[in-house]
Amino acid sequence: MEIEEDIALAPLTTMKVGGTARFFCGCASEEEIGEALEWAGGRGVRVHVLGGGSNTIFADAGFDGLVLKVGIGGVERQQMGEETLVTAGAGEDWDALVLSCIESDLSGIECLSGIPGSVGASPIQNVGAYGQEVRQTVALVRAFDRRTLLQVEFTREECDFAYRQSRFKGRDRDHFIITQVQFRLPRQVIPELRYAELQRNLDEAGVDLSRLEPGRPASSAIRDLVLGLRRRKSMVLDPTDPNSRSVGSFFLNPVLSPAEVEQLRDRWRQAGGEGEVPSYPERDRARVPAAWLVERAGFHKGFRRGGAGISVNHALAIISCGGGAKDVISLGRKIEETVERKFGVRLEREPVVVGEERIGR
Ligand SMILES: Cc1cc2nc3c(=O)[nH]c(=O)nc-3n(C[C@H](O)[C@H](O)[C@H](O)COP(=O)(O)OP(=O)(O)OC[C@H]3O[C@@H](n4cnc5c(N)ncnc54)[C@H](O)[C@@H]3O)c2cc1C
Repeated sequence: MEIEEDIALAPLTTMKVGGTARFFCGCASEEEIGEALEWAGGRGVRVHVLGGGSNTIFADAGFDGLVLKVGIGGVERQQMGEETLVTAGAGEDWDALVLSCIESDLSGIECLSGIPGSVGASPIQNVGAYGQEVRQTVALVRAFDRRTLLQVEFTREECDFAYRQSRFKGRDRDHFIITQVQFRLPRQVIPELRYAELQRNLDEAGVDLSRLEPGRPASSAIRDLVLGLRRRKSMVLDPTDPNSRSVGSFFLNPVLSPAEVEQLRDRWRQAGGEGEVPSYPERDRARVPAAWLVERAGFHKGFRRGGAGISVNHALAIISCGGGAKDVISLGRKIEETVERKFGVRLEREPVVVGEERIGR
């Protein structure tokens, strides 16, 4: 384990903004994580855990502590009847894992193709896209307890998964470092599509999942489709596409009570808005697309403000356009304030902002 000093953080994130880390350490094993935590603990140095940096924004002033990048690798498979247990190190690349599972004719995570970042971060916000979330397939999460320095394991039920949420982002934020995630994936099944846009695109392309050429699993056809859709929205990382210089969606879709939805509809009607407010059932509440609110609040695709803007291909993706973290955060705050003033709905930010207290208005 090597502790480096004054390491630039922007290249370690997908937004490409932020200052330097006072200390930096890449950890390739549980032992190295333990050593790094002891090193920091002994010196009273704060620790921030980093994966692929695709949901993280570092302040321009940097981080005056130790950035611990989890780089634990390795993928193991164990056959369990009709299912396979796939256990991956937290530092493995998420999309590489998805691809390798599809190539082995395993299903359950194909709709999550193209999501950047590490395997270890996938349970943190219960990553999801196109009708799938990792909570449907996670069997076990292995982690390091930052306070006791002991190894612990969580079953799926113990992870408290919910829409873009888990105990690791909620009540146990910054308490555990995830070292391994185990998924339970079925073999040779035709995945059930739960996302209308995906099914429609499949139908339009004339793809029949039950009649693919030999050797082409249904999940690989779904992956191709998902990657195509994501590329059109600049939702896959592409160094040649400035609209992918983001953290993906900047805001979560608000989940509102029936009374709050009614209030939103009233406000929309009173403002002379045309058409219905879109909403989708979420247990006894309703999920309203944040993109709809952002666009109706006047922040259209391609909008620019200072050194930040909104992707021309995705209304929820704030992108960095040559400015710093301050420009990105300030645009995010402007959108939050405007949506709240216009619609009475408070948007919740999705990415983690490290050192926000050092970002002025
Ligand atoms: C273009 C683009 C598209 C995206 N599309 C989607 C999408 O469709 N769906 C979706 O859900 N997300 C999406 N995201 C967001 C992001 O890719 C995911 O949240 C991803 O899981 C983050 O992984 P990471 O390794 O980059 O996390 P990081 O940004 O490095 O970290 C995110 C958080 O997790 C913590 N963390 C990371 N690793 C560990 C670990 N091993 N143990 C403990 N804590 C850890 C960090 O401290 C931080 O709080 C997108 C992002 C981009 C840039």
